[in-house]
Amino acid sequence: MQASVSKHSPRELHRIIQDAAHAIEKARREDPTALQEISDSTDGDPFRVLIATILSHRTKDPVTALASSRLFAKYPKPTQLAQADPRTIARLIKPVGFYNTKARTVKRVARIILKEYKGRVPDDIEDLLKLPSVGRKTANCVLVYGFKRPAIPVDTHVHRIFNRIGVVKTKTPEETEEELTKIVDRKDWLPLNEVFVKFGQLICKPIGPRCPVCPLTDRCDWYRENYRDKN
Ligand code: SF4
Repeated sequence: MQASVSKHSPRELHRIIQDAAHAIEKARREDPTALQEISDSTDGDPFRVLIATILSHRTKDPVTALASSRLFAKYPKPTQLAQADPRTIARLIKPVGFYNTKARTVKRVARIILKEYKGRVPDDIEDLLKLPSVGRKTANCVLVYGFKRPAIPVDTHVHRIFNRIGVVKTKTPEETEEELTKIVDRKDWLPLNEVFVKFGQLICKPIGPRCPVCPLTDRCDWYRENYRDKN
């Protein structure tokens, strides 16, 4: 892919991240995202972060959080999940999207972690990407929420918001990740996903972004082109 040149400096991007974080500070404290909650409550257990991220695909945050807590109450470790009956796993994680398929997948992942990695989730992105159902977003989530390693997991919220603001002009989350890792200061990588998932759930929503309460209007292309000039 041809590299694009962002008009935003790392310092401006730092301020954007700070302002977005500030706008949703109370909500982050009182109602954290599912992955942040799992990371906090398990002291960043990479195995549970990995399994919860797989469950979160095409599933809303509160559903992921509940399904994960039911699953981990019964099968907290790879040894237990690797031996579990997929029908029991499916019953525990229902109603996450594609729960029957995901039940088989998480069992397979647990078996691979046990067999090939001695029960420890690998902290290398290339190894993570070899696991079933693990793409770049999931692998990066494990690095950030499980290992506290700087990475930028790009989900639909992060992809949408950075395109709306005009920081990137990309077609896919993978392209967005590639661009953001070039222009965002490495010290801002760790909090970025959590801030913008919450910001996307509460303010820059997929449909009907709440621009009147957004602190980024003066830096946002979408606001200039679609909201300010039409209101
Ligand atoms: S101004 Fe509107 S479109 Fe732009 S980031 Fe804020 S909520 Fe999203």
